[in-house]
Amino acid sequence: MAAPVRSDLTDPGDDAPVAGALPPLAVDHERVRRAVREILIAIGEDPDREGLVDTPDRVARMYAEVFAGLRTDPAVHLQKTFTQKHDEMVLVKDIEFASCCEHHLLPFFGKAHIAYLPNGQIVGLSKLARVVDAVARRPQVQERMTEAIADLIMKHLKPRGVAVIVEASHSCMTIRGVRKPAAMTITSSMRGGFLEHPATRNELMSLVFGGK
Ligand SMILES: [Zn+2]
Repeated sequence: MAAPVRSDLTDPGDDAPVAGALPPLAVDHERVRRAVREILIAIGEDPDREGLVDTPDRVARMYAEVFAGLRTDPAVHLQKTFTQKHDEMVLVKDIEFASCCEHHLLPFFGKAHIAYLPNGQIVGLSKLARVVDAVARRPQVQERMTEAIADLIMKHLKPRGVAVIVEASHSCMTIRGVRKPAAMTITSSMRGGFLEHPATRNELMSLVFGGK
């Protein structure tokens, strides 16, 4: 069977998946089960006690769900566009997401705000939320997630500009390490008009953060 070609992550960084190198089509549940059982033994637990006996299986199913984005191409949500003469900013804010930090395999979650300046083509608003979900369901860092969403929209919608702002709380900072429960990480990725025109960027910022 030919490997599906990845069309997302248009500007792969050093550690981004290589084009064409999609992982196997299903998570290897048995392998995850064995590994989780090993972890339980390694931390000094009894994996056969009542409360833990089904845990390896649950964790395997959870990983299949939270990493489902590894097996999907977020670009599919941007294929259907509509011709519309609207050249002002389109903003969808407060798109909630949950992702998983690749350094600790702990969740980070928050909101993404996506704005673009149409170039004669618009996309269904819910599709932007679907792109966020598809990109979020992988092990990753917030910085790369932010860039990946912006690159996908630039490539497939060809707007005059894109802005992606992601605000997230990282459990690896709140429950361990420095333990700063209130810390929020904000990343942004600006392209085209949002990068070149401070007035456009300021308008976006007041729409996103104005009420805070
Ligand atoms: Zn982390």
